[in-house]
Amino acid sequence: MTHNTDIIILGAGASGLMCAMTAATRGHRVTLVDHGGKPGRKILVAGGGKCNFTNTEVGPDDYVGRNADFCRSALARFSPWEMVALLEEHGVPWEERDHGQLFCRRSAADVVEVLTSRCRDLGCRFEMGRMVTGARRDADGFIIDCEGTRLAASRLVVATGSPAWPQVGASDIGHRIARSFGHRIEPVRPVLVPLVMPEGWQLGGLQGISLEAGISTGGVTFVRDLLFTHRGVSGPAALLASCHWLPGMSLQFDFLPGVDIPALCESPDHRRQLVRTMLTRLLPERLATRLIPEDLGGRKAAELSRADRQRLADAVRSHTVVPTGTEGMRKAEAAAGGVDTGEVSSRTMESLKMPGLFFSGEVLDVAGHLGGYNLHWAWASGRAAGEAI
Ligand SMILES: Cc1cc2nc3c(=O)[nH]c(=O)nc-3n(C[C@H](O)[C@H](O)[C@H](O)COP(=O)(O)OP(=O)(O)OC[C@H]3O[C@@H](n4cnc5c(N)ncnc54)[C@H](O)[C@@H]3O)c2cc1C
Repeated sequence: MTHNTDIIILGAGASGLMCAMTAATRGHRVTLVDHGGKPGRKILVAGGGKCNFTNTEVGPDDYVGRNADFCRSALARFSPWEMVALLEEHGVPWEERDHGQLFCRRSAADVVEVLTSRCRDLGCRFEMGRMVTGARRDADGFIIDCEGTRLAASRLVVATGSPAWPQVGASDIGHRIARSFGHRIEPVRPVLVPLVMPEGWQLGGLQGISLEAGISTGGVTFVRDLLFTHRGVSGPAALLASCHWLPGMSLQFDFLPGVDIPALCESPDHRRQLVRTMLTRLLPERLATRLIPEDLGGRKAAELSRADRQRLADAVRSHTVVPTGTEGMRKAEAAAGGVDTGEVSSRTMESLKMPGLFFSGEVLDVAGHLGGYNLHWAWASGRAAGEAI
């Protein structure tokens, strides 16, 4: 069976819904196709169910991808406050948390409801429970193969996201479709994901301990909360670091960011203390015990030589380890890599290889840091595609 519509959007997730709403507002007949039973399943699990839907400050530096500048144009045309205005128009309560993160006060379901009800009011058709298996082009437009049916439209938007968190129906179909139209796919890897440490790691077995710490990798440093897990590290600091970490790269932990340890050893408050006592007052005890070099813990702080003070500082502020990997797609909030942005217009999201084919959201090689940036990219790119199509 073939249905006819102006535009087919594959994926009724964050970006697909925004694109549908925008295109339908401009008078287009839009059909959204998704294999889920209901739209926006990833939005519903976002931010622990409260959905960190944007951030007060959003710019290209908040994203990773081969072409860091690709997102600039769409971000410049969709500010965080436009999303806030949309939600406020529908009476959705929101709140600002630290680092400029904006969350729903009630539930992420509010965001999904706003987008789906707007789409329905504008006449968008939802083809839910339809697994897309491929797409091709014929003389009249695009043909979409779904299990059990075939759909046709003159323009096609691929908004099927990334394979991260498959528990809510995430797949790599968007990348496969892009490839079938001749697009290059930048290698896909899980990000915003806990990191796994090697067997016998000096800090293994500290699961449950959390503290504010710095993590550096690939020339980037984040100072945020860090959580030790059974297999490695998680928490905002580790998730952010995972965006910049590649296999084989080392991580450097700073467990007392901003603290001058050699100076601390000299200070009147600490000079007579044992090194162990001094550091267990500043760090969780089990962590401090693991970090302090064995021969230094039982010595008085002021008695350490300059070299020993530096050794202590390095142990606490430059703990270096090479993770063995990540917890993988099942525990990743996003995936980096995807459709090569060099082959897509940054203004319209249209393919530079196939007229009438558009990409929006996480299917593209654009991944955001923790803090509402991934959803904001989904909104901004969906808006850009919906305005251009
Ligand atoms: C646990 C978790 C928490 C998160 N928290 C946040 C947060 O608080 N803030 C933030 O900014 N970002 C967060 N993210 C990331 C954010 O949710 C995504 O970046 C965003 O949803 C991507 O939007 P999208 O439209 O590109 O893809 P999606 O929202 O994933 O939508 C893609 C749609 O395509 C459909 N689909 C996939 N394959 C097929 C197929 N073969 N056939 C038919 N349909 C298909 C899916 O069912 C889905 O509905 C979180 C992600 C996870 C997993």
